Amino acid sequence: MADPRSVAEFIEYDGGQLSLVGSQCGACREVVLALGPRCGNCGSEALDPVQLDDRGVVWTYTICHQAGPGSSRPDDVPHVIGLVELAQGLRVVAPLGVPPAALRIGLPVRLEPLVLAATGGGPERITFQYIATGA
Ligand SMILES: [Zn+2]
Repeated sequence: MADPRSVAEFIEYDGGQLSLVGSQCGACREVVLALGPRCGNCGSEALDPVQLDDRGVVWTYTICHQAGPGSSRPDDVPHVIGLVELAQGLRVVAPLGVPPAALRIGLPVRLEPLVLAATGGGPERITFQYIATGA
């Protein structure tokens, strides 16, 4: 079976290995998620692709008790959305595959693939989440 399709260009998934690609500004060194036309911090167009850290810590989170409109995982409630701070300094919004009772600010987490079921005859899709490093 072929690898599922990534839901975004900045999510690289090959042979079960997942990584996130960001941009680093050549002028101010700011690192952001994804590739953009210019730095949001200083406006420079000197951006280089950079592989983002696959580990971070929970900076904050919220527990959602209702699936969003059009959710591909309508039965996944409650679910947790977090803001994960990477060592490179950026914060990434992502689902947290952590039971609510185990959540805390500063919890060490690592990147993990999140496979979304095929819908409408299309292929499975791949996105990402963070799980506790001990999981
Ligand atoms: Zn910059």
